[in-house]
Amino acid sequence: MPGANLPDMTDPADSFRPEANDRPTRIRVDLDAIGHNFRALQAHAGAPVMGIVKANAYGHGLVPVALYLQAQGIGQLGVALVEEGLALRRAGVTVPVLVMGGIHAPQVSQFLACDLEVTVSSIAKLRQVEQAAESLGRKAVIHLKVDTGMERIGVHSENAGAFIDAAVSSRWCAVKGIYSHLACSDDPASPMTHEQLQRFLHACSYFDRIGAPMPVRHLANSGGVLHFPEVCLDMVRPGIALYGVMPDPASRPTVALKPALSLVSKVVYFKVVKAGRTVSYGATWTASEDTRVITVPIGYGDGYPRSLSSRGEVLVRGERHPIVGRVCMDQFMVDLGPAGTAYNEDEVVLIGRQGDDAITCEAVASTAGTIPYEILTGLNARIPREYVGGASIPRSAT
Ligand SMILES: *Cc1c(COP(=O)(O)O)cnc(C)c1O
Repeated sequence: MPGANLPDMTDPADSFRPEANDRPTRIRVDLDAIGHNFRALQAHAGAPVMGIVKANAYGHGLVPVALYLQAQGIGQLGVALVEEGLALRRAGVTVPVLVMGGIHAPQVSQFLACDLEVTVSSIAKLRQVEQAAESLGRKAVIHLKVDTGMERIGVHSENAGAFIDAAVSSRWCAVKGIYSHLACSDDPASPMTHEQLQRFLHACSYFDRIGAPMPVRHLANSGGVLHFPEVCLDMVRPGIALYGVMPDPASRPTVALKPALSLVSKVVYFKVVKAGRTVSYGATWTASEDTRVITVPIGYGDGYPRSLSSRGEVLVRGERHPIVGRVCMDQFMVDLGPAGTAYNEDEVVLIGRQGDDAITCEAVASTAGTIPYEILTGLNARIPREYVGGASIPRSAT
């Protein structure tokens, strides 16, 4: 029968799971590192952590990371989109989940049906949530979003009074939290963070003035937790630091974090390139002497940036070697030098540790001319994820 020995794949993403696929290129996620970072950040902040798992948990895998954090006892998760929240509920995540993005009216009933907490960023949005909640006969749990300087979503802090009045008096909304987002916390020297804190606290003080119970106040992203203990308040929202990566080259390592993600592949081809020959599209790199070149089976089609062409480095047999020529969609080439050796199937580390050396996500980002966030979230579903550590979650959950 044609196709009889093909695996049964109901979800196309299943074909990229490590157990269903021998692709030598893979992301290895160390769940214990995420657990360590979670506890270290919570201790440093002195406040409970809302684990931010948007954008496929910064490339680490939305569902496995969320199930792991839930097993570790996290009390709250945050995502950007309602779709991400629904995926968590479908996978059996039962802890509170806040959707931080702006809401679209037609999606409000999905929020409520799946017990997702809603970000309410204006009085008009509050009315939409109330209407949906009333028609479902189910109270909405909301977090009020105040804008203190980001100018993205939220009511300007100076106008928060009327907004808070409307929310507090709503029959169909329970105000669980109030929050704002920091624009410059990556930089410990920026005065912006304190200005934002002052505006935020002023808005929150309105609850006291009207004698309403103070909801959970949360302001700190990773940079806030790392650099500004005074912004940690009642809850903190680290994303990138949870994965052991610093938000910015200017960030200070005030918390000992462990990077959770490695990106590895294997040598798929080895050859000698003669002096004067060029490598890859556009013939942009020329061998100046006879040299040994390997091919690595990953490219920009996986989210490995093309801007690393003739700039990036990888680790092979414990040593650093340069990428030569343009990164292709599915492969790139590495120069081992005239005396270099490697064999097919040797491990190639693109991000992570090998022997005594390591290539960090931060270093890859800076070479690529971008930020670590874009590197991590760009690594797409074509790369299988493999999970190590995290003994407390069932294997089948990943
Ligand atoms: C993404 C996001 C965070 C987490 O930011 P990091 O810099 O990764 O810590 C926190 N809060 C909001 C509103 C976000 O959008």
